[in-house]
Amino acid sequence: MTFERGGGSSTPGGAGRGQGGGRGRMGGNRPGAGPSGNCICPSCGAKIPHKVGVPCYNENCPKCGSKMIRG
Ligand SMILES: [Zn+2]
Repeated sequence: MTFERGGGSSTPGGAGRGQGGGRGRMGGNRPGAGPSGNCICPSCGAKIPHKVGVPCYNENCPKCGSKMIRG
């Protein structure tokens, strides 16, 4: 009796690739994310997600109203 299974039980076939599909990059809250990042309030330290097309200095802090800076 040999234990030869022709199937290849240790071969990660199709079902093994669950991750890294085409999930959009709209996750948002990862620290050190890519080009977008966050805007930070220099006064109170609040962070908001940077909006594409809107410079951080055009955003106001939701907490204290200061102008945000690039994070
Ligand atoms: Zn603030």
